[in-house]
Amino acid sequence: MPANVAAATKAARSSDETAAISVKDLRKCFGDHEVLKGISLEAHKGDVISILGSSGSGKSTMLRCINLLETPDSGEVRVDGELIRMKRGRDGHQMPADIRQVERIRANLAMVFQSFNLWSHMTVLENLVAAPTHVLKRPRAECLEQAEALLKRVGIWERRNYYPPHMSGGQQQRAAIARALAMNPKVMLFDEPTSALDPELVGEVLRVMRSLAEEGRTMLVVTHEMGFARDVSSKVMFLHKGEVDSVGEPKEMFARPPTPQFKQFIANFN
Ligand code: ADP
Ligand code: MG
Repeated sequence: MPANVAAATKAARSSDETAAISVKDLRKCFGDHEVLKGISLEAHKGDVISILGSSGSGKSTMLRCINLLETPDSGEVRVDGELIRMKRGRDGHQMPADIRQVERIRANLAMVFQSFNLWSHMTVLENLVAAPTHVLKRPRAECLEQAEALLKRVGIWERRNYYPPHMSGGQQQRAAIARALAMNPKVMLFDEPTSALDPELVGEVLRVMRSLAEEGRTMLVVTHEMGFARDVSSKVMFLHKGEVDSVGEPKEMFARPPTPQFKQFIANFN
């Protein structure tokens, strides 16, 4: 399909197509510090949204509200159209109304953290098999087969019997991505997946992420990798002091920064 037709098709996507993730007017305070001041975001199937912003702008809190590691004070989060139901606790704070709903929805959202978060007392292979067997109750033999295939895919099959502390950071992060994929998530959330890596190891992780983008995975990626944001993502969203400062098509955003804040932000990376 020619690029212009693909773009037109994407633009014409009917508004009633269910978004993979839809966030409306998300607000979150810690004490009297308002960290998210009404964030809205929609990710459709196959979207790769890079979320940029200075340290403290609310990027992690936003991702954590989406998968309910934090409870938003107000606002809506929908995953595949399903609204995560909230109720007011006795202290007046919002909390999930149905923890089983949260667990079910969360199983569709894989999160990859800056700090890898693999289980260090398990081999890499066991790291990949644990959740699909225990949470999804899938047969172990099937999970092992899938785990080996995923480790081949991210290029660390030879390390399958290693314990995470005996691997490089880049290998650990690729294992963490493979572990996320083992749950067949509908959406992948990445929180600065390359920020803890030595510079020479960043490329091997970005290559895996690029291949996921190319196969049409839906991804929200908090990153400081401007090359990834510009060249791989379908949309860039810039958070500034808890608000969406600007959002747009990546090449356009970088060529013509729509706000002084975004212009200043990317200037710091040149
Ligand atoms: P980012 O990921 O963009 O660097 P965060 O979402 O981590 O930003 O944090 C935004 C602001 O919220 C920061 O000022 C941070 O100190 C504050 N914050 C984050 N988590 C908590 C928490 N659990 N308790 C209190 N303050 C927090
Ligand atoms: Mg953060």
